[in-house]
Amino acid sequence: MKFHALTLFPEMIEQGLKPGIIGRAVEKGLISLNTVNIREYTRDRHGKVDDYPYGGGAGMLMQAQPVYDAWRAAVGDRKPRTIYLTPQGRPFSQSMARELAKEEELVLLCGHYEGIDQRVLEEIVTDYVSAGDYVLTGGELPAMVMIDAIARLVPGVLGNEDSAEEESFHNDLLEYPQYTRPEVWHGKRVPEVLLSGNHGKVSEWRLEQSKERTAGFRPDLYEKYREKQRLILRLSKDKRNNIHIMESLARGKGEILYHQGGDLLVQDRASSVCMLTAEKAESAGRLAEMLPEGTRWVIVSQDFVRELFADKGCGLFGSCSQYLYTNKVFLPVRYKEIRRLTEEDTPYVTAHYAHDTEEYVRERVRAGVMYGAFSGERQIGFIGIHTEGSMGLLYVEEEFRRRGVAEALEAFCANRLLEKGFTPYGHIMEGNTPSEHLQEKLGFYRASRCVYWMSIT
Ligand code: SAM
Repeated sequence: MKFHALTLFPEMIEQGLKPGIIGRAVEKGLISLNTVNIREYTRDRHGKVDDYPYGGGAGMLMQAQPVYDAWRAAVGDRKPRTIYLTPQGRPFSQSMARELAKEEELVLLCGHYEGIDQRVLEEIVTDYVSAGDYVLTGGELPAMVMIDAIARLVPGVLGNEDSAEEESFHNDLLEYPQYTRPEVWHGKRVPEVLLSGNHGKVSEWRLEQSKERTAGFRPDLYEKYREKQRLILRLSKDKRNNIHIMESLARGKGEILYHQGGDLLVQDRASSVCMLTAEKAESAGRLAEMLPEGTRWVIVSQDFVRELFADKGCGLFGSCSQYLYTNKVFLPVRYKEIRRLTEEDTPYVTAHYAHDTEEYVRERVRAGVMYGAFSGERQIGFIGIHTEGSMGLLYVEEEFRRRGVAEALEAFCANRLLEKGFTPYGHIMEGNTPSEHLQEKLGFYRASRCVYWMSIT
């Protein structure tokens, strides 16, 4: 991902972001940071970039020309999202950071003095974003805050997806209290449950603590969380058919775009995949109109909704049976040589997996959600978790099949989800009988209805 910062103080941004995780991500080439000094683009002989505001008033304003030329120098003929940092903008938030992390290129425009001439803003700015309801002397600090919050969500920057997934705001809940060594400090003991080694109990305790904190510190967020929980409870009446929507919401990725009675439209923020259920064809039609711009995939599980999308010219990418593991007990992993894959393992995966693009597979490895089976040094198979949450990307080399490797990979992957308190589920393409048998052998249940992946054209 590329960041361009248009500023009068490039060294402030460079120096501010150089140490630590963001600096390392730049060195590794996971992100790039291009600072553009607006002053270098002024045509004024004395290097001036500001002037008095027409109509009078306090202070000076940055002129349109140097800002525009600096922007052109950064983006050329492209027109990436360009964000003006201003106290008048939409308040920056974790969900905005998530949304922006999907962009390939972002421009951050930092103002100074009393701000910037309106005409250039109208021409180049796509989003107005504020760091909060207070006034700073310049946009550099907010720009740094945004770059930091967005960059750490770029796969690979944090090393593995867990750290970004489990912290404050991931599920409209604040993070639980954390402890490190020593076990006793100033007479205060680390809570017993954290020393128990029981992952299930630890997850339960953390969730309770998160809820308590959020209700105390941020009642507004807590109400949002409760609304989602009420919906999940309703969906759980038909858990097998709704598990994809429930998990997206429960894992803190699903956003409710519309909900009334049996009409529901959820967008999984991590993947942008939409999920839709409707009471009648008429309401399904209305929900289809509400799909956010740029939506590429919709998962539906009702035949009449599938037909509606087909009538609109959307392609049916696949009919899948949905399998879920509702037992909380960890699955036995009988093949032992399994571990999380790292970047060095990517070529093997891309060479053996043709159902998704190389870029997607690479991103999944970087996200830390791909697991490989090995025979000594040699990799022999893998499995992973798709961006919208289903288990998949399963592959085992021909000569190692029928030896329980696929079963062990599935169990290993399901256990990682169980550790986090999630319900493992997968979408098996209709007709893939060996995979269906595997799910059943592991104790996964099959939903009564298929899920249909519709591609939006
Ligand atoms: N006169 C402007 C107003 O009332 O909206 C404030 C200008 S401020 C002194 C100078 C620059 O600092 C702005 O152009 C903006 O880029 C940046 N800035 C100040 N406060 C900010 C905030 N809360 N969020 C984002 N940017 C801010």
